[in-house]
Amino acid sequence: MSTATLTIDLDALTANWRALDALCAGRTGAVVKADAYGLGADRVARSLARAGARHFFVAIAEEGAALRQTLGPGPAIHVFSGHMPGDADMIGDMDLIPMINTVDQMIRHFEALPGRPFGIQLDSGMNRLGMEPAEWAAVRDLALAQEPHLIMSHLACADEPDDAMNAQQLTTFREMTDGTGVPRSLASTGGILLGEDYHFDLARPGIGIYGGRPFAEARPVVTLDIPVIQCRNLAPGETVGYGNDFTAARATRIATIAAGYADGILRTMGPKTSLWAEDIPCPIAGRISMDLIGVDITDMGHDPKSLQLLGPHQGIDTLADNAGTIAYEILTSLGARYMRRYIGG
Ligand SMILES: *Cc1c(COP(=O)(O)O)cnc(C)c1O
Repeated sequence: MSTATLTIDLDALTANWRALDALCAGRTGAVVKADAYGLGADRVARSLARAGARHFFVAIAEEGAALRQTLGPGPAIHVFSGHMPGDADMIGDMDLIPMINTVDQMIRHFEALPGRPFGIQLDSGMNRLGMEPAEWAAVRDLALAQEPHLIMSHLACADEPDDAMNAQQLTTFREMTDGTGVPRSLASTGGILLGEDYHFDLARPGIGIYGGRPFAEARPVVTLDIPVIQCRNLAPGETVGYGNDFTAARATRIATIAAGYADGILRTMGPKTSLWAEDIPCPIAGRISMDLIGVDITDMGHDPKSLQLLGPHQGIDTLADNAGTIAYEILTSLGARYMRRYIGG
């Protein structure tokens, strides 16, 4: 079989959630947008619900609807994009909580679903989603009269503890929400690590649950094993792959493995990245193709059946560094062709 296997450790995942939960002054939710950062929202959300998570966050209503089918009635499902045109039936039928971002969304929600749950998203400086201070001041009384379930904002620099932006956004968020009596949420993974001032009533970690920075204590969650299709010998001077980017400096054994950039193995990580077999690093040789990668297995001394890209030797943050990106992009790029195998849970 030439399908690579992505193994997702649900015990590590729930351990990470519990560890973050233990740090939080208030309750701890879970962000499962983008199919739980590519790991499978179904299995991930069910495991987290079993571990005790009662508050979930998704990007769009469709994700929320699918999640409701998975989780059944009970857990709160918040939608960051709020109440978009055409979403009323889905929000109502699936009992979703839109995080209202604009006055237009608020009017739409009150008209289409009067008396139904909603939250408020405020902009405290990131200028991405949510009502700005002046806008909020204008509609605050009207909104509070309808009893929102949650008021939230998002930090732009939470992964940089020393950035002055954090304290600035905290002050703005307090000014906008003190005295409302409504449960509040400000912290993502980075915000949780900034300390109790940032926790409020409900935290919204994502990446830390999935094993990424800035949650340094996180247990790794994903392993990726890629089958070897073919091995060959190269004489010194022979080349590998498109553009002849790799030239053998010695007698070299090359394995061709069954995954490529179409599976989310970003081309830019090639020059700095190795695959692993039995504790031996095997450098990528030449350019990463769409479905194939050449790997220098000379130092192994024999031909492996598969090579590991993600695992104990190399995690999502290392691959992100190698590719000049962040672990969020490594995870959400993981391709649809992998066989996803869940362990634990
Ligand atoms: C994605 C997201 C989160 C989770 O952030 P992490 O850095 O993955 O913990 C929390 N809140 C909002 C608004 C988000 O968009």
